[in-house]
Amino acid sequence: MVQQFKVLINGEWKDSSTGEKLDIVNPATGEIIGQAPKCSEIEVNEAVAAAAKAAPAWAGMPMSERSKLLLASSRLIMENIEELAKLETLEQGSPIRKTMNFDVPLCAEQLEYFAGTARAIKGETLPVGPWCLSSTVREPLGVVGLITPWNFPALMVIWKLGAALVTGNTCIVKPPSTAPLTTLKLGEIMMEAGIPAGVVNVITGPGSQVGEALVQHPDVAKIGFTGDTATGKRIMKLASDTVKQVGLELGGKNAFVVLEDADVDAAVEGAIFGGFFNSGQVCAAASRFYIHESVYDEFADKYVKAAKKLKYGDTMNMETVIGPVAYKAHRDTVESYIESAKKDGATLLLGGKRPTTKETKNGYFVAPTIFGDCNNNMKMMREEIFGPVVGLAKFKTNEEVVELVNDSPFGLSASVWTKNARLGITLANQIKAGTVWINEHLIIFCETPWGGCKESGWGKDLSTMVFDEYTKVKHIYVDLNEGPEKPWYGILK
Ligand code: NDP
Repeated sequence: MVQQFKVLINGEWKDSSTGEKLDIVNPATGEIIGQAPKCSEIEVNEAVAAAAKAAPAWAGMPMSERSKLLLASSRLIMENIEELAKLETLEQGSPIRKTMNFDVPLCAEQLEYFAGTARAIKGETLPVGPWCLSSTVREPLGVVGLITPWNFPALMVIWKLGAALVTGNTCIVKPPSTAPLTTLKLGEIMMEAGIPAGVVNVITGPGSQVGEALVQHPDVAKIGFTGDTATGKRIMKLASDTVKQVGLELGGKNAFVVLEDADVDAAVEGAIFGGFFNSGQVCAAASRFYIHESVYDEFADKYVKAAKKLKYGDTMNMETVIGPVAYKAHRDTVESYIESAKKDGATLLLGGKRPTTKETKNGYFVAPTIFGDCNNNMKMMREEIFGPVVGLAKFKTNEEVVELVNDSPFGLSASVWTKNARLGITLANQIKAGTVWINEHLIIFCETPWGGCKESGWGKDLSTMVFDEYTKVKHIYVDLNEGPEKPWYGILK
């Protein structure tokens, strides 16, 4: 029996008005594991009305009270860790080893971080003059729409929802259609934690309908979006009709640079994590590698040997480290990049074939794949693949490698591997990206801002900078003069 799920609107669990459903498929087996309502504009309107009604009381609650409700949600997330981890593994394909040890605990930790740091949000007193008190206060935006992707279904919601809620906004979350179940469970947990009805609403349904209706709704003050660059561009266009704010965390084509003096073994470990974590379905995944010609052969040889050891297969087995990609059509897209790399003349060093073991044959698996002899003219080195497929290219000089790294429409992240900190920092300063790691790739903390430049988007998630995304600054000016005379009134006299 396929499990049935409902959406959360105004504290109640509902089906869609049409009764239509989305099938949720386990990408490791191809089996349908659940059905969620396929909502439409009708549910968006209901949810926005509920969020608007709940907004004044939620915004009027002291920050300390909202913070406590986030902490209660965080505790409940950990109490429900097994169910949440299992749901995420089943709907998205991440191995249970990762969802139990990484995704769910990090969701809980991030809520703790937002709950704690938001209480230190301050306004400013401005030194205009002794005749006035001129100060700023931060206010919530109102109703915000949060549209999230499938690669880390729970974490991507928490990044936005935690920050938006604690600062006093009411929210409508539109999770990805292929993986909405953990988001629905997080909604349930937040209700159980005591967050009032209408403050958190979760609506499932196609982005082209539910997502666009949310973006166009005049009562929605902001859209916080993580997803594809093409979708982000569409959202920007639609949001302009209501001059709505948008925060866009979009795609990446992240460079991994190994300099002549790098510790090659450390770089190989970083390349395994950077290239293959979450089957490469990470916006910040290392996908184009520039290796100094003097260490290229050593790096390529060690990288291939290390990647061969990665165990993929049954996602419910704690030993499995690599799962399938998230859905069938995405597997086809990733495979089309493998074919394009072959056609463009890259040398296949590892993988490149669909795994056909008993455990993998019905799922959407792509074996870790490494190409050598790549260059920036190849499609696989220019476009986001979002799968476990990486390309290695050689370079000769540091000036050349900075040019190669910056030769991209994306600007999300990059890493530089070197024993020379001064040189690493010099290159980091020249690379156009939201984050540059030195001797690390793909590590993100609650405390560190996340977001790119160029076509990777704008705005920041995480760190205290995220509070700027979900608050507006109001300036309040109090005149302290007695009497009607002010020096500037003379201009009209
Ligand atoms: P999509 O843009 O396809 O989908 C993201 C969300 O947007 C989904 O909920 C989707 O709904 C919805 N959506 C789709 N079309 C529209 C529309 N016209 N209007 C409003 N909403 C819409 O991205 P993916 O889910 O494929 O996510 C992968 C992408 O996310 C990658 O490019 C990756 O780089 C990026 N990403 C960026 C991160 C960052 O921090 N920069 C972090 C993680 C991922 P539905 O599922 O129903 O189509």
